[in-house]
Amino acid sequence: MRQSRLFTRTKKTAPKDEVSKNAELLIRAGFVHKEMAGVYDYLPLGLRTLNKIIGIIREEMNGLGAEELLMSSLQRPDVWKATDRWDSEKVDVWFKTTLQSGSELGLALTHEDPLTDLMRSFVSSYRDLPFSVYQFQTKFRNEMRAKSGIMRGREFIMKDLYSFARTEAELDAFYEEAALAYERIFARVGLGEETYKTFASGGIFSKYSHEFQTLCEAGEDIIYVDEEKRIAINEEVFTDEVLQELGLDKEKLVQKKAVEVGNIFKLGTRFSEPLSLTYKDEQGKDQMVIMGSYGIGPGRVMGAIVETHADDNGLVWPEAVAPFRVHLLSLGADEKATEIYEALEKAGIEVLYDDREASAGEKFADADLLGIPYRVVIGKRSQESGHAEVKKRTESAAQEVALESLVSYFQS
Ligand code: ATP
Ligand code: MG
Repeated sequence: MRQSRLFTRTKKTAPKDEVSKNAELLIRAGFVHKEMAGVYDYLPLGLRTLNKIIGIIREEMNGLGAEELLMSSLQRPDVWKATDRWDSEKVDVWFKTTLQSGSELGLALTHEDPLTDLMRSFVSSYRDLPFSVYQFQTKFRNEMRAKSGIMRGREFIMKDLYSFARTEAELDAFYEEAALAYERIFARVGLGEETYKTFASGGIFSKYSHEFQTLCEAGEDIIYVDEEKRIAINEEVFTDEVLQELGLDKEKLVQKKAVEVGNIFKLGTRFSEPLSLTYKDEQGKDQMVIMGSYGIGPGRVMGAIVETHADDNGLVWPEAVAPFRVHLLSLGADEKATEIYEALEKAGIEVLYDDREASAGEKFADADLLGIPYRVVIGKRSQESGHAEVKKRTESAAQEVALESLVSYFQS
């Protein structure tokens, strides 16, 4: 990609009403555009990163054997009435809309209710179970405070996975596999170090649910972390009784701010019962389907990466989610740089080529702001020395790499 062709431009400042660090940097770097509080557009660079995060999550979901589908955003009230969740007093983040006929519809805030209803068309026998499905789908939530940038949108994409099982043991087995997949996801996107599997409140069916909490100053949650054991508990279940049960020592727990990047929840029959999702067992007797739900917000993950990795000069992307791997800067050596650009592209290395007519200072500042993992500078000197200057975004020292070995440098 030639940077001269990008329609987005970097900015010195973000909108005055923007208070979150992630949105401020992402707007300045041209990754997102702010429509209004809690509503953001993903621009080409931002979409590349979002899609990389989605790609990693999708691989791990497929690894669990889950099937991908895509459900509608417009939802029927009757399924929500059946589960007693239509009332805005009970669910306070609803966006609702009205048909021309006057009847009401809901805008998807999650999908347990309609999905459970949908599965009545497909589940009848014990032979149909167990299975799981997931989607990347736009949710609408009328969030009270939307001050955390893309970490708390009023419109956002969620990956939601749902499991359907015959027995509690089947649910438990899937739940443990899902927890491991979540750990792999957060490690792969570059949040492994700062993300803790966290005990949180459960429901009627299980005492606890688990959240995946990323330590971060901008987080809205308070958790207590045992750094040695690498587990944490949410303040909502922080009691002496729970500590004892989990074998945690109060003295060793550190209070931290964190953002919930994912959660996993044993639903049991919370939805299958009111919506009559049953199957016939081997004796031909009706049994309730046992469900679980598992969410991740790819946008929130992206925001959390910004919050935890960015430095004073701008964004810093882990390689797996960076919009490009290499940022190639031509400093008055366009002919040589273009040659290298074409060679890197041909070798399948994702490269953003700064071919703009701009000063070195401007190009360096933009490279830092965009946060692409490797910066390669080809200047007038390179032509004489036959070397390019390669610098990692996370390091201050640069390295000289021979022009003819640049491709193999990035291939290895
Ligand atoms: P929170 O307590 O932060 O509001 P939640 O409990 O409402 O989160 P879930 O309903 O479980 O979240 O949603 C599943 C996942 O979707 C969350 O773990 C988070 O990653 C993401 N998510 C939830 N709300 C938002 C939002 N407003 N904007 C972006 N991502 C979100
Ligand atoms: Mg919420």
